Amino acid sequence: DRVQVRTALLSVSDKTGIVDLARALAGQGVRLLSTGGTHKALSDAGLAVTDVSQVTGFPEIMDGRVKTLHPNVHGGLLAIRDDADHVEAMKAHGIEAIDLAVINLYPFEEVRAKGGDYPTTVENIDIGGPAMIRASAKNHAYVTIVTDPADYPALIEELATGATSYAFRQRQAAKAFARTAAYDTAISNWFAEALDIATPSYRTVGGVLKEEMRYGENPHQKAAFYVTGDNRPGVATATLLQGKQLSYNNINDTDAAFELVAEFLPENGPACAIIKHANPCGVATAPSLKEAYVRALACDPVSAFGGIIALNQTLDGETAEEIVKLFTEVVIAPDADDAARAVMAGKPNVRLLVTGGLPDPRTPGLTAKTVSGGLLVQTRDNGMVEDLELKVVTKRAPTAQELEDLKFAFKVAKHVKSNAIVYAKDGQTAGIGAGQMSRVDSARIAALKAEEAAKAMGLPEPLTRGSAVASEAFLPFADGLLSAIAAGATAVIQPGGSMRDAEVIAAADDAGVAMVFTGMRHFRH
Ligand code: 5GP
Repeated sequence: DRVQVRTALLSVSDKTGIVDLARALAGQGVRLLSTGGTHKALSDAGLAVTDVSQVTGFPEIMDGRVKTLHPNVHGGLLAIRDDADHVEAMKAHGIEAIDLAVINLYPFEEVRAKGGDYPTTVENIDIGGPAMIRASAKNHAYVTIVTDPADYPALIEELATGATSYAFRQRQAAKAFARTAAYDTAISNWFAEALDIATPSYRTVGGVLKEEMRYGENPHQKAAFYVTGDNRPGVATATLLQGKQLSYNNINDTDAAFELVAEFLPENGPACAIIKHANPCGVATAPSLKEAYVRALACDPVSAFGGIIALNQTLDGETAEEIVKLFTEVVIAPDADDAARAVMAGKPNVRLLVTGGLPDPRTPGLTAKTVSGGLLVQTRDNGMVEDLELKVVTKRAPTAQELEDLKFAFKVAKHVKSNAIVYAKDGQTAGIGAGQMSRVDSARIAALKAEEAAKAMGLPEPLTRGSAVASEAFLPFADGLLSAIAAGATAVIQPGGSMRDAEVIAAADDAGVAMVFTGMRHFRH
């Protein structure tokens, strides 16, 4: 099953390692063909190499758009070497077999990541490269395809006898198709982004392997992180300034934390979110970042231990001083100033991530989850309720402060697993009830947590007294509302739309509570 390599075609944009590889091939007596830029790199290094235009009898035209798209190249890659008809066709048309193709593509992903303009990005869609990769990979019975410079040493080793094994060609073919699939995924998602098309069918679920983790959600599960290449600041693109590699759970929780804190625009002041198991255990805004952290922590200091902290502004020294007092897994922020970096360096185990910015909660994107035998794909929940869409449904309208707290609580509730109940007061969560199967249980748990936090913080009464409360989906019965009123809520925000809205509104009116409908639901499962 070993196939002798006599002719190799090298056509690479990333020229890393290509000269050394070519030299090794030449040393084996392999005839080298290559395209313009690669040809130049190799002949500059003193290697004998034939330009592919001599093989095609055609110059490279149209700024390189057409270099290798020719039957002499594709016939040479695709011919079945022991098929009489194929051999006959090669003879008739003067096609020579190409046994090895070393190809990497125009740097589309890099140009996209750098935010290249539209025509530049389009020009970086490689056409001939993927065609040759696919042709070689399809014909792996005879042809060796190598797409990753990291595999050059293995190729050289494989060629010690001047031939490649079937197993090697097969594995490289599998890798090659993974490469072209990832390349096309990046192109399709760039288009969807550029044209602002959110529809899942215009996008492609897929990514490029970034890293493998030591394990998954549990130690007996294996895990890996794939990045989709969109330019959204967040855990996928962040720089790890210190600390160990992030675990599977860290990545999941850090994403939840940063997406939540990004709901609070930096120009409206500092905000902090603390996350445990993908649910917030405290969120707050305040005039200073340190104060925002302290207030977020106050909501549930017990749960915050070992949590993930996300900030909507540059981490500063005084906030860092406060953060390191408690054990934290990850801190993520748009940036960290020198003072903060120095403080964090004193706790080298805390992972510190900087993102360079905040993701825009309104941008479209896809989320996916697996079910047995399938993938459920939907557009990201980028819904945000505008002030104008809020509808007061009770006799009493919320006061200005209540309205602020209602909007704050509803934003937080969007990021809490359903059923979600969030109490808030003065820009600070007072109690969060997450992930319960009944809404009334979420309301009770949130109130209970507020009582415990008040005790822990030495407050005379829980912050739920005189608070605003949000429910991410409609209140189906009056019981959840009554439970919130019992905890001290004076204003309520919820989507509305239940069969029993009238009953729920009447209960609010009876208690003198103000209620606002958003018309938008934020289920999160
Ligand atoms: P070079 O630097 O050698 O001139 O070009 C190498 C690049 O050209 C590789 O990334 C390869 O995938 C790409 N390439 C090879 N043939 C063609 C072609 O016919 N059309 C286009 N658009 N790209 C090609």
